[in-house]
Amino acid sequence: MRTALISDIHGNLHALDAVMDVIRGLDAGRIFCLGDTVGYGARPSECVARVREACATVLLGNHDAVACGRAPSDGFNPVARAAIEWTRERLSPEEAGWLAKRPLVHEEEGFTLTHATVTRPEAWDYVLSPIDAAVEIDACTAPLLFYGHTHHPYVFTRRGEGADRCRVDVFDPGPEARCMINTGSVGQPRDGNPDACFLLFDEEARRITFHRVPYDIDATQKEILDAGIPRELAMRLSCGR
Ligand code: ZN
Repeated sequence: MRTALISDIHGNLHALDAVMDVIRGLDAGRIFCLGDTVGYGARPSECVARVREACATVLLGNHDAVACGRAPSDGFNPVARAAIEWTRERLSPEEAGWLAKRPLVHEEEGFTLTHATVTRPEAWDYVLSPIDAAVEIDACTAPLLFYGHTHHPYVFTRRGEGADRCRVDVFDPGPEARCMINTGSVGQPRDGNPDACFLLFDEEARRITFHRVPYDIDATQKEILDAGIPRELAMRLSCGR
């Protein structure tokens, strides 16, 4: 079975459609979405419709939680808050109700999925350091934990007191490895590469491949500006920061 993992679409329909086109050519048996389908971008409803149709499971992200009224926007900076308020006004009650019912954590045979962490999923902590990753890996029964939220496609492998952190295009977890793997972001990459990011997990081959997909950034930026969403959320897409 090949599984595609996407996350942090953030209302970026052009990026999502480009990624879905690539996934269709990869013979993926299923797609999981790790949350933050909305927030920042100008096409939230279309992105919700796409993941509802295409994904076996869609998790709740912190932006989804605020957009659907399940959580307050207290932790958001003014730019993120302006965008999420814009988003909240555009989602239909039915779309918001569907988002509100998304799970925080999902278990599969051999791996676990979450948006931020498994230890305190609704605290929305950012796992960027090996020490924090080790805590999450130790809290999982399954050997592999996939997550999103940071928009940085890191791989952490549990080792000694902490974990080794690396950034690679292809990663082969050994049979005994215990790892925490970030899918990167479809709709707002922050690792200096503006291309949309997702990963494919080939379970038989035990191979994880990160894919980068160019998409129409100019059109996405124009939609954000036309919508009156803060300008910096359009500009950052050009540099992937
Ligand atoms: Zn996000």
